[in-house]
Amino acid sequence: MTRFHLESLGCAKNQVDSELLISCLSAGGWALSESADADVIIVNSCGFIESAKRESVNAVLSFRKRHPTAKIVLAGCLAVRHAKELRESLTEADVVCPTSDPQRIAGELIGAALAAADPGGRPLLSLPGSAYVKIAEGCDNRCTFCAIPLMRGALRSRTIPDIKAEFDALRRRGVQEICLVAQDSASFGAETAGKSGRGALPELLETLLQAEGRFWIRLLYLHPDHFPYDIIPLMQGDPRLLPYFDIPFQHSAKDVLRAMGRRGDGKTYLALVEKIRAALPGAALRSTFLTGFPGESDADFDDLLDFQKNAQLEWAGVFCYSREEGTPACAFKKRPAKKRAAERKTRLEEAQIPISGQRLDRFIGAQLDVLVEEKIEGEGEENLFLGRAYLNAPDVDGAIVVESSGELHTGALVSAQITARADFDLQAEA
Ligand code: SF4
Repeated sequence: MTRFHLESLGCAKNQVDSELLISCLSAGGWALSESADADVIIVNSCGFIESAKRESVNAVLSFRKRHPTAKIVLAGCLAVRHAKELRESLTEADVVCPTSDPQRIAGELIGAALAAADPGGRPLLSLPGSAYVKIAEGCDNRCTFCAIPLMRGALRSRTIPDIKAEFDALRRRGVQEICLVAQDSASFGAETAGKSGRGALPELLETLLQAEGRFWIRLLYLHPDHFPYDIIPLMQGDPRLLPYFDIPFQHSAKDVLRAMGRRGDGKTYLALVEKIRAALPGAALRSTFLTGFPGESDADFDDLLDFQKNAQLEWAGVFCYSREEGTPACAFKKRPAKKRAAERKTRLEEAQIPISGQRLDRFIGAQLDVLVEEKIEGEGEENLFLGRAYLNAPDVDGAIVVESSGELHTGALVSAQITARADFDLQAEA
């Protein structure tokens, strides 16, 4: 029996592909193992920006160094984007598999046509109780800085019955939190929406919320320029659809956003934030900002700092612009120096610390449902657990440290009282 190890890099969508790939290979008779015991080591790569590409290449180099006899396979986005160059230059990889399609990768490795994996039955790489569900692949937004459409293609939404079947299967397995992901979840169903352009996200959510029981649905990656306001009444009506909004604004200065191929500006984005908060006072908001985009002036950056101050978001991630060949912005002039972009990134990150702190402080004293993810092992730490509440998305936001009078089950939802804050984490008692 061939033993394989899988290194899953990049985003939540890539993690779902990795989980499906494990399913396909296992169905093909291969066994998942630690890298030390593996005959085949697969790096499911990311090709989004320079740092992610470097991480993927370094993973191949590191596995080659540590496991000289293993067969090293590079698959996923980086392989899709640079197959030819990588085959010539990255000789440490025995195979470069230019696809993200788990079924095709498995078929190529096993050398036989394999059935598609059952999404609801796949192994999950998330912490207990949580799973990502990919509702669509690809993207039609064509933001000028973004290489994802070059790797993932045009928007292809799954059908609602297909997603519902996966959702039900995961619920039967005891999964409490279902994170719906896509490149842009707000575009779900837009490719078949005709003139109305009204996506099918509200319809999908209404269908999933017909299910009985206690669970969470978390929406990730909502493009601000076509924000689906119809989801707000659904959130007001059912707390299982979490009032958590992950809306990558990228910037606030009009001229920068236009150059990015986006239609909004600081004023319309602030109005969106205020509208959400007016309808859902307890809402938690996360965003992403990009510094150093070609043409970004000092005044544009000051505009962004003001926007950040006025928006008072719970969470914000900041990235420096990465010039990506094949994207429209690659040819743009007047790019700020990388040093300047990094300085601006640091200033935004430093300014976000007190903002997140203040936004988190309002939860002290509140009674919240917490998804228990792992037990904190250590001297004198009898009943301490790490978890997340509705305001904490997996992998990117702070956590909830729960002190309990007794043992808690990982993967379970427990009610806990928030007692204090420590940096980006909240402390609670259950
Ligand atoms: S919406 Fe996201 S994935 Fe789509 S082009 Fe823009 S940045 Fe890329």
